[in-house]
Amino acid sequence: MLHRLRNDFRLSIITLLGASAILGITPFAVLRFLQGNPFAAAIDLTILTGISAGVVYAWRTGDTRRSGLFLALVACSGAVLVGFVVGEPGLFWLYPCLVTTFFLTSPRIAVTLNVLSILALMVHGGAFRSPVQMWSFAATAAVVSACAYVFARRNQNQRRRLEHLATVDPLTGVKNRRSMDEELQMAAANAERTGLSYALALLDIDHFKKINDEYGHSVGDQVLTDLVTLIDQNTRKSDQLFRYGGEEFVLLLPGVDGADLEAVMGHLQQVLRRHMKHPGGPVTASFGVALLRHGETVESWIARADDALYQAKAGSRDRIVFADVLMAVASPSACVGSA
Ligand code: GH3
Ligand code: MG
Ligand code: MG
Repeated sequence: MLHRLRNDFRLSIITLLGASAILGITPFAVLRFLQGNPFAAAIDLTILTGISAGVVYAWRTGDTRRSGLFLALVACSGAVLVGFVVGEPGLFWLYPCLVTTFFLTSPRIAVTLNVLSILALMVHGGAFRSPVQMWSFAATAAVVSACAYVFARRNQNQRRRLEHLATVDPLTGVKNRRSMDEELQMAAANAERTGLSYALALLDIDHFKKINDEYGHSVGDQVLTDLVTLIDQNTRKSDQLFRYGGEEFVLLLPGVDGADLEAVMGHLQQVLRRHMKHPGGPVTASFGVALLRHGETVESWIARADDALYQAKAGSRDRIVFADVLMAVASPSACVGSA
């Protein structure tokens, strides 16, 4: 539980909001009931129920995007209703809502919700003693919203930059090993759920160290970026390429197996043979390919592709080795490994 709170910012905000709402609103619900205002007490109870349901939904499903939006809606509409019913004292509840909307949903939706809430109270007008008080409220609420907006936008940009740094390989621009682990786990879960086939191709440039040694590191870097461009141009949008480390890459291919997989890999190998070059001549690569088996773990899947790659390297290199028996006649440069 603590682990989830620490790792999921929005879930922690949702939980904080839920706890604060229960502690902050419950006494007022009781007070309003005792003061003979059951309508206001019922609104407080409805808000509490809505917020509690949103918190439970977020914890059970992990869908903090939808529950965040729901909670922002409940909080804002609840604060507006309280303003309508109890008048001036109820207005104060809108201020915390104007700030929390930015933590619960996107800055654009938060601004829309805030503007609508402020306008609703102004159009109704019943909560204000005078026009001056109404405009003071509007101005202060707008200032609070503007400050929260600037903060939220900065926070969003920084989070995006951090996410980019944490998941993308800076040299080639493809996703790194860390995001590969996540994507492969998701692929395995999706395969279990939908039965979609997934192939994993582990690709390693042949004799790459020699290119670095003979022509320098920057030429080696160029070969890596050329490889990524070529693969990107010659695979489907749904295929994903990851840098596994050094001059090794992983290509995740959903929805392809059997003869199609063999054809796709054969085509890719031809493209690389034809277009991958360094100052001393062509550059080739070896491939180990494994299909995800039913109920298999990601670790075992990668290990089988790795074994197949090892066999491709142990052979003459510039080869594709399939860890699984495919329903097709193997081409001269492709073979089935014993993995
Ligand atoms: P093999 O055919 O068996 O795969 O041999 P290889 O020379 O390709 O493999 P080896 O593992 O011996 O060498 C890989 C080299 O890749 C060593 C390392 O310096 C180089 N390398 C790793 N990352 C980078 C990088 O980002 N840029 C460059 N230029 N070289 C890199
Ligand atoms: Mg290599
Ligand atoms: Mg290697």
